[in-house]
Amino acid sequence: MLIDVHAHLQYKDFENDLDDVIKRAEEVGVKAIIVNGLTKEDNKKVLELSKKYDVIKVALGIHPNEVKSTSDKDFEEIFSFIRENKDNIIAIGECGLDYYHDKDEGILKRQKEVFIKFLKLAEELNKPIIIHNRKAERDVIDILKNYKVKALLHFFSGNMKLAKQAEEIGCYFSIPVSIIRSEHFKTLVNKVSISKILTETDSPYGNPEVGRNEPSYVKKTIKEISVIKDISLKDTENIVYQNFQALFS
Ligand SMILES: [Zn+2]
Repeated sequence: MLIDVHAHLQYKDFENDLDDVIKRAEEVGVKAIIVNGLTKEDNKKVLELSKKYDVIKVALGIHPNEVKSTSDKDFEEIFSFIRENKDNIIAIGECGLDYYHDKDEGILKRQKEVFIKFLKLAEELNKPIIIHNRKAERDVIDILKNYKVKALLHFFSGNMKLAKQAEEIGCYFSIPVSIIRSEHFKTLVNKVSISKILTETDSPYGNPEVGRNEPSYVKKTIKEISVIKDISLKDTENIVYQNFQALFS
């Protein structure tokens, strides 16, 4: 039983062969793929996909780097769209803070305001939240402390001190396929408890090898985690699946 807690199957990259991509994922045992919306239009596409494929679970949000091109009116519509669909979503996401691609003070301030609104929405709807954070881990952790939400840090690239702090406040970490080439993610898996670890692909991004990423590749991540934690493949799969249930139900 495998899971991919972070993918973007709504992208054009999958428009010609999504059936095959889903089939390959199911063949290796993937039971759930959380597809995350990044923009207002994207959120609608994600919801549509979930009606077609049972394995697709929905997370709705706005990517932090999309905040600058999203108006207040858009945000009102996005928030009501999420509320209207609260029974069809498994989480709020993708949202968070990204100080790598945006640098302007005013934009960063707005990113924070929006992130806080999403946290309040997650509290209100009693849903976990999927967080993108880049060069902003300190602020993400400081803000998160003020809210009673279950949080998943996707593609966490902060240092191990910050990772431990995030773990202490109850955060989960989704480990990408790039762990097969990345010392950072190998160390992260080594340092945090297996009870806080999940698997993701960020498809179509994040393939450390040639070509497009896809959900079936979570199998490679499980293999790596199993070696690092010295737990059998089967047990690693089961524990990660239990973590998925603990976080998203
Ligand atoms: Zn993403």
